[in-house]
Amino acid sequence: MASTAEDLQAIRENVRALCRDFPDTYWREGDKKGEYPQEFVKALTESGYLAVLIPEEYGGSGLGITEAGIILEEINHSGGNSGACHAQMYTMGTLLRHGSEEQKRRYLPGIAKGELRLQAFAVTEPNAGSETTRIETRAVRKGDSYIVNGQKIFISRAKQSDLMLLLARTTPYSDVQDKTQGISVFVVDMRHVKGNLEIRPLDVMVNHHTNTIFMEDVEIPASSLIGEEGKGFRYIIDGWNAERILVASEAIGDGHWYIERASSYACERVVFGRPIGANQGVQFPIAKAYAHVEAADLMRFDAAAKFDRKEKCGAEANMAKLLASEAAWEAAEVCLTTYGGYGFARDYDVERKFRETRLLTVAPVNNNLILAFLGQNVLKMPKSY
Ligand SMILES: Cc1cc2nc3c(=O)[nH]c(=O)nc-3n(C[C@H](O)[C@H](O)[C@H](O)COP(=O)(O)OP(=O)(O)OC[C@H]3O[C@@H](n4cnc5c(N)ncnc54)[C@H](O)[C@@H]3O)c2cc1C
Repeated sequence: MASTAEDLQAIRENVRALCRDFPDTYWREGDKKGEYPQEFVKALTESGYLAVLIPEEYGGSGLGITEAGIILEEINHSGGNSGACHAQMYTMGTLLRHGSEEQKRRYLPGIAKGELRLQAFAVTEPNAGSETTRIETRAVRKGDSYIVNGQKIFISRAKQSDLMLLLARTTPYSDVQDKTQGISVFVVDMRHVKGNLEIRPLDVMVNHHTNTIFMEDVEIPASSLIGEEGKGFRYIIDGWNAERILVASEAIGDGHWYIERASSYACERVVFGRPIGANQGVQFPIAKAYAHVEAADLMRFDAAAKFDRKEKCGAEANMAKLLASEAAWEAAEVCLTTYGGYGFARDYDVERKFRETRLLTVAPVNNNLILAFLGQNVLKMPKSY
């Protein structure tokens, strides 16, 4: 049953209350030290909010993308970074829609209880980039196992996760007529693999715990395969709308954080004998960014409502991701400008959020690819690839 407006408001307030225990200093210190926000993820898991997409029969609360989006939005709105744990929500659809009953019973109750972590999603490769069908990681069936060889890059939280969703070619690109065929998805239990699985941290601009992964003769049970062999690209695509709506929600949360910080700083900071916010050159960009965040929010809720009603929502989900990540980035720039030099001082948190928000225009999917989707699939213009 769909949540009422009161239910959604209650989720918002409960997540806000939880986030109050993790103030700016918590995220700032973690960012400085490159630490994973373990205590926050534990609290979120114990509250049940990380398991909202898991159906009740497997121990979750069986809610929809609308509710999941509000949770991620409020984490980012509080000054936190839901990038620490969002993958569990991003990947859930693949397991729920295409996993076997046995896989769901094996993993979902443990994930819902917080005993098992599904925080890693391994798609990107150095030689494929945005062209996912060009991935070269190979999984070859051998008896009751698959032997995996290859390399992945930018695979976040692999060291903070027990399970990893892995995309690999079971038939090489050169042997398929349709390039989307011959790709398979596996749920890999990284605690029990045989062979050489090396996870090497990659130093990036944000506190994101991302890694290069090297797999050499990694042996995983054949029962790790999700759905049918060779159909994995389709399963991943099925999850993209959810992922885009969730990223949009995170961006909306960031957008509101910047607008609130910028407008309150603009009221407090006095230069030339008056609050800087009295100057239209300061005030109007904040007002404009606010309008853009609010407009993107409408698109996000439209996409989420369609998704939860199981209606087609590819166009809306993609537009929500595009508009929300751009609106949040506009708000980030406006906030930094409003703070002047203090925007660069770590103690104000603007520079940290600024780095975190920028990522949302690039990952998990680049906005250029979103525009290509809209241009080619919605507006039927010629393909660029
Ligand atoms: C911090 C971080 C965390 C990440 N976490 C994960 C993760 O957990 N799992 C995972 O699998 N991946 C992850 N990624 C990877 C991320 O999804 C990719 O970086 C992103 O999808 C873009 O791919 P790319 O970097 O290879 O860019 P490329 O594909 O090399 O593209 C480079 C540029 O060219 C543009 N471009 C390419 N082709 C076209 C075209 N046809 N038309 C127009 N423009 C084009 C792109 O939009 C981009 O601007 C992460 C990345 C970062 C930075």
